[in-house]
Amino acid sequence: MSQSFLKENYENVLEKVQCSCDKAGRDRKDVTLIAVSKTKPVEMLKEVYDCGCRDFGENKVQEIMDKYPQLPLDIRWHMIGHLQTNKVKYIVDKVYMIHSVDSIKLAKEISKEALKKNVVVKILLEVNVAQEETKFGLLTEEVLNFYKEVVDLPGLKVCGLMTIAPYVENPEENRQYFVDLKQLMVDIQSEKTDNISVGELSMGMTGDYEVAIEEGATFVRVGTGIFGERNYNI
Ligand SMILES: *Cc1c(COP(=O)(O)O)cnc(C)c1O
Repeated sequence: MSQSFLKENYENVLEKVQCSCDKAGRDRKDVTLIAVSKTKPVEMLKEVYDCGCRDFGENKVQEIMDKYPQLPLDIRWHMIGHLQTNKVKYIVDKVYMIHSVDSIKLAKEISKEALKKNVVVKILLEVNVAQEETKFGLLTEEVLNFYKEVVDLPGLKVCGLMTIAPYVENPEENRQYFVDLKQLMVDIQSEKTDNISVGELSMGMTGDYEVAIEEGATFVRVGTGIFGERNYNI
């Protein structure tokens, strides 16, 4: 089956990323497009890889473990979904970054497993900026203390913040949440006592990544916009 739509979709998203960078006066190199490939078969990932994509996002440990050995080693795997502590050990040496750290227990487990495997894992703190009850993530007011508690754990490096904004028809409705996440990062940066950089902002999905880039996103996570709708029944 021809899946040339993937190339078209991917290039279309790349073009929009460039436009948003231009509009915001930002350097394109400061924004990484993560192709969110959850539920999609490796053949499709391979095709997007062949278009030049090296960053893929998954939300399940099992799926990362299945896909990892089937695809080139220069892929940067981003764990973007809720992570259970008992599964950390399976992916700690496979992922480039864990975007979804929202408990001290999880941060400590990552630290412990990273030390065992002799790696340093980049992490982001997940913030529920919109305070949606259905979502994981720290509340805005908790983040600064949380950061102070985990920043010195060995084996991990806190690189910034992540949020999953609400599903909205009009992306402008999420602009304030992106502004808020950026402000929170600025607050953290002004607290830091050493020169560890905490500059990454993972925000923006298919429906709102352009607005997120305008407000400072350094990682955008685009699934549907590249791979098409997901079918969870297969
Ligand atoms: C699925 C998912 C995405 C991608 O969502 P789309 O709307 O399909 O772009 C981004 N971030 C997270 C955390 C996800 O789980």
